[in-house]
Amino acid sequence: MGTLPLACPRDPSQQGPPGDLGSTMASARKPVVEVRRSERRRRTVSAYRDGERVVVLIPDQFSRAEEREWVDRMLERLAARDQRARRSDAELSIRAARLAQRYLPGHAAAARPASVRWVSNQNGRWGSCTPADRSIRISDRIMDMPDWVIDYVLLHELAHLVVPSHSPEFWALVARYPKAERARGYLEGVCAASGQAIHED
Ligand SMILES: [Zn+2]
Repeated sequence: MGTLPLACPRDPSQQGPPGDLGSTMASARKPVVEVRRSERRRRTVSAYRDGERVVVLIPDQFSRAEEREWVDRMLERLAARDQRARRSDAELSIRAARLAQRYLPGHAAAARPASVRWVSNQNGRWGSCTPADRSIRISDRIMDMPDWVIDYVLLHELAHLVVPSHSPEFWALVARYPKAERARGYLEGVCAASGQAIHED
């Protein structure tokens, strides 16, 4: 049996709507921001953490509106970086085990992958699963997406360990995840925004 791809297109652009379910978005808590203006800076903006604070360095010529815009933008960037750092293979495995336990409880043995890892060579797929060696691969393109979308992609691949084909039985398993339809819509939206045809196969 070959791999079972969950189809997807190229780069999802940035973040979608903010996650809700179980989302531990770093951006939920606004940190204390210290803005430092520099006369030497012309165009570049940078930001870094200093303990609990975030220091944002901007050109002195920036207007207040530009300052606000750039502070928001830099905070988003830092939050995305934090989220990416959190997305380890270990975290992915723990997440998969939790999802299988919760949504595929009758298939405890079958829905246990031998490996779950992030990969960067998914060729237009969000995730894939090889039932023969029980391995699951998740595209790092979805790393910046909300937790509930990642959970959907993971659960989709876990369900393939139980039912390899996209049969009604398979979709019935996937449908146990309450946000399955919403997540598929989210991914389709990302596909559409990137201008590529969508086929989930
Ligand atoms: Zn599939």
